[in-house]
Amino acid sequence: GRGEEAFVTLATNDIYCQGALVLGQSLRRHRLTRKLVVLITPQVFDEMIEVNLIDSADYIHLAFLKRPELGVTLTKLHCWTLTHYNKCVFLDADTLVLSNVDELFDRGEFSAAPDPGWPDCFNSGVFVFQPSLHTHKLLLQHAVEHGSFDRADQGLLNSFFRNWSTADIRKHLPFIYNLSSNTMYTYSPAFKQFGSSAKVVHFLGSTKPWNYKYNPQSGSVLEQGSAPSSQHQVANNVLPLYQ
Ligand code: UDP
Ligand code: MN
Repeated sequence: GRGEEAFVTLATNDIYCQGALVLGQSLRRHRLTRKLVVLITPQVFDEMIEVNLIDSADYIHLAFLKRPELGVTLTKLHCWTLTHYNKCVFLDADTLVLSNVDELFDRGEFSAAPDPGWPDCFNSGVFVFQPSLHTHKLLLQHAVEHGSFDRADQGLLNSFFRNWSTADIRKHLPFIYNLSSNTMYTYSPAFKQFGSSAKVVHFLGSTKPWNYKYNPQSGSVLEQGSAPSSQHQVANNVLPLYQ
């Protein structure tokens, strides 16, 4: 039932916390009917009161030692340990929810939308999953044994759920649940046709909305530390949210 379902995000530092906060607000704005969970590492706050729900520390520690470069990736995998929920939707902290997305809970593990750069791979910024210590353990084993072809969670998850692209079309989320912010430039006619149906926008890539400074009086935008870029048009509408 709904009581055992949650939206989950991750913030390993103060910077991504800005995104997680805006994402949380955007979910609440559209009639939040599920629990809202954030995975946070100790770097974020000065004081953290940790509650130990599941003692999986040993093998997590082991995995970290063997593959230090996969730090944030392995942190994302922690979402599988939320076993007090029977189904969850993971959303990157750089996603923004534009309308109610409860219907995502009708999908099963592992559901995700295609990656715009390589559509036979899914994008790991939005996915439906079922918490399970067993799956978590297998994922960490996979990380330790095979690493990740992109050194991040997306490569790892794609090689773990490797039959995603062919096995079950119901596990392909429509692109409007993970609309990458650069789509309006890479396929603008499709963006004109379908863009207004977007339910979740994903600001993937190196420039995040919180890297801009927005002047509410003048409506002008400044990207911190670099020249203005083509992302401004998208960023412009959402920047006030991240200030
Ligand atoms: N993340 C984090 N700290 C980091 C990097 C990433 O907490 O230093 C989390 C955050 O939830 C973020 C997700 O991991 O949205 C994936 O990283 P990112 O969105 O930067 O990757 P992209 O979508 O641009 O490939
Ligand atoms: Mn992202």
